[in-house]
Amino acid sequence: MRYEAPETVESAAALLAGETGEARILAGGTDLLVQLRSDIVEPALIVDIKKIRETRTVTEDKGGWRIGAAVTGAELKEHPRLKQAWPGVVEAANLIGSTQIQGRATLGGNLCNGSPAADSVPALIAAGAVATLAGPKGRRDLPVEDVMLGPRKLALGKGEFVVSFLLPPRPPRSSDAYLRFIPRTEMDIAVVGAGVSLTVDAAGAITAARVSLGAVAPRVLLVTEAAAAIVGSRLDRPAQDRLEAAARAACAPIDDKRGTTEFRIQVAGVLARRAALIALDRARSA
Ligand SMILES: Cc1cc2nc3c(=O)[nH]c(=O)nc-3n(C[C@H](O)[C@H](O)[C@H](O)COP(=O)(O)OP(=O)(O)OC[C@H]3O[C@@H](n4cnc5c(N)ncnc54)[C@H](O)[C@@H]3O)c2cc1C
Repeated sequence: MRYEAPETVESAAALLAGETGEARILAGGTDLLVQLRSDIVEPALIVDIKKIRETRTVTEDKGGWRIGAAVTGAELKEHPRLKQAWPGVVEAANLIGSTQIQGRATLGGNLCNGSPAADSVPALIAAGAVATLAGPKGRRDLPVEDVMLGPRKLALGKGEFVVSFLLPPRPPRSSDAYLRFIPRTEMDIAVVGAGVSLTVDAAGAITAARVSLGAVAPRVLLVTEAAAAIVGSRLDRPAQDRLEAAARAACAPIDDKRGTTEFRIQVAGVLARRAALIALDRARSA
């Protein structure tokens, strides 16, 4: 197994594209190293992207925020202005694992591990985040909801990897929130995750919303019907009921010992409603 740590996006893409065997990006390694040690993956080439500056920085970009794919959850938490603009994204990244894991785990790794239960993904999708990919043919942008196709299946081509994420500019009175249910209080995989991002007008009515659900389908879902159910409302009880119903209708979860199908569907509605109420509260005081 060969290990490379290039310093530019182009050389990383060339290394990945030139490998005839299996090649893997290494970011924080909190998924990859576990999979290597358990012989789940046996790549011929590992490309560590942490020496590429662009993957390790958080910058303001045309009124939005660009977050490098190899920025860790712990680093996001220490960024007060980003936290103020996108509290839901930052809180989702900081639900990943323990303090030790958060010091290594990255947004790019969380998405590209391809788990439908990944915590930061519903928050990124609700935020309208766009992933910037680089590969041998250059760069392209892909909405985060289109990156994952199913468990462990990504829409990345040969030699492509995620360089960064762009969180779009936000109108005033906008905010977001992420909630998950786990059977334990921490260090567990989401049984359901819900991310909501919304904007309110001066009178407190919702003018735009995005709702995303994790762990209730083979991929993380953007639930446009749930967002439509609350736009135009002040999230009064009938709007909450519509949101819950639309969230539940979108779910097609697995049934396992950590959560039955019925339980996951029920909880998806509850978490979508609670996350929306938190996002609304934050937006009104933003
Ligand atoms: C103890 C423990 C607890 C955990 N708890 C949680 C949890 O609560 N919630 C949760 O969601 N996850 C959890 N995880 C899983 C893991 O920590 C996260 O998925 C993490 O975000 C992975 O990021 P990483 O940088 O470590 O990825 P890595 O392990 O470096 O990479 C993961 C996968 O993505 C690929 N990859 C990484 N970066 C890129 C990129 N930029 N472009 C293309 N491919 C890329 C790698 O090749 C690999 O296949 C836990 C893991 C452990 C060990």
